[in-house]
Amino acid sequence: MLADLHDIGRDPATGGYRRYAWNDADMELREWFAGEAAARGMEVFEDGNGNQFAWWGSGGDALLIGSHLDSVPDGGAYDGPLGVVSSFAAVDRLRADGFEPSRPIVIGNFADEEGARFGIACAGSQLVTGALAADRALAQKDRDGVTMAEVLRARGRDPHAVGATDLLDHVGTFVELHVEQGRSLVHTGDAVGVASAIWPHGRWRLDFCGEANHAGATVMEDRRDPMQAYAATVLASRRLATDAGVRATFGRLEVEPGGTNAIPSRVRAWLDARAADEGELDRLVDNLVAAAQAAAEADGTTVELTPESVSPAVEFDGPLRDRLATLLDAPVLPTGAGHDAGVLSAHIPTAMLFVRNPTGISHSPAEFAEESDCDAGITALTSVVRELA
Ligand SMILES: [Zn+2]
Repeated sequence: MLADLHDIGRDPATGGYRRYAWNDADMELREWFAGEAAARGMEVFEDGNGNQFAWWGSGGDALLIGSHLDSVPDGGAYDGPLGVVSSFAAVDRLRADGFEPSRPIVIGNFADEEGARFGIACAGSQLVTGALAADRALAQKDRDGVTMAEVLRARGRDPHAVGATDLLDHVGTFVELHVEQGRSLVHTGDAVGVASAIWPHGRWRLDFCGEANHAGATVMEDRRDPMQAYAATVLASRRLATDAGVRATFGRLEVEPGGTNAIPSRVRAWLDARAADEGELDRLVDNLVAAAQAAAEADGTTVELTPESVSPAVEFDGPLRDRLATLLDAPVLPTGAGHDAGVLSAHIPTAMLFVRNPTGISHSPAEFAEESDCDAGITALTSVVRELA
């Protein structure tokens, strides 16, 4: 199945995946998901948010497994798809063994998990659980200025159908398998681990504003160049994050007017920050904004902060986590990455399984997992489904 997905949305130059909510690659992946479900006689239901659910059996208290199929810009082949593919493979193994589930088993493909297009991570799971208001999501614009509502209409979906559903009335437990985004399992020497917690994390937009002017005719003393305060802020982020033992990243930048021979009028930068607890995260952002403001003031420029998506700390269900760790004889580890499992864990017992990533690299074309470890992941997920259903 991973081989079937290999070329979908893959940029030939970088080898990375560009599978963004509702783009052509995403549409092809949705069809692939529906086809895999149909081939197994599983009924597929797509909710108003674009989340796809393939049902084995019907009724309440279903066991949900699965993950997402979208990617970050130039993402890897495993983040997301490994969980979906492993779920179909686990169903195949259970059926080959003649297993008869005691509750419905549902494979999910959550829409827009990475938030690469509209800026809000886990949009599909946040919308379906009511954590994200439909109005706010529908008004979000992509980089071409097109709103989510317009994109949905163009893909034949009804923007009025976006929002919370009765999913949580039908699903009692969620288990998401995911490639590890770090090297904890390399250190413990295990192919599979169980998640303990997700660090609180978020995305903030910083608008540094100054005055556009000629790069040759404007002496240095007369400039109001917002790039300078931006640069000072990036350097401060490394110092502040390192000192606090937390993480801060500037990975996206837009410069206006964007000419080599023009002093910028505006530098728009996005901060991704993560910490072990919410107090640490708030402190980091506060300190960073203070550093940005001091740098801007010194240059006669300004900076404005807009939180785009902030996710609280997630502690996965303790009894379920311990039960799965014992069942699989697997280590328990935290993660700095956000997941749909984090969103659902606020409502129903939720667990995550991680599959070893030898380099720890993720959100990059270099992301990798050994075939034998992927196989161990399927075996673990199969055991978990057998245990819980
Ligand atoms: Zn993911």
